[in-house]
Amino acid sequence: MLKNYMEEVVEFLLPTVLDKYDNICKCERCIRDIKALSLNNLKPLYVATEKGNIYAKVKELNTQFRADTIKVITEAIEIVCKSPRHI
Ligand SMILES: [Zn+2]
Repeated sequence: MLKNYMEEVVEFLLPTVLDKYDNICKCERCIRDIKALSLNNLKPLYVATEKGNIYAKVKELNTQFRADTIKVITEAIEIVCKSPRHI
């Protein structure tokens, strides 16, 4: 099974980043846009994996990698929230 590891990383880190924002829309559409935009701005990292064990690896992210990814997610949140495409 081939999987973009960054999808898991964004999925894992997004709730933490969103917690810092009280006044933004967190509807399904906006969340999806934030994920898509984040993934477009991050270098994909494809891994061959057995089902299930990718998530365990996400928890072992090194600090710099985590910080860089959070920065990209934060930028995506700000872009999406400035011009939300819901409704
Ligand atoms: Zn929304």
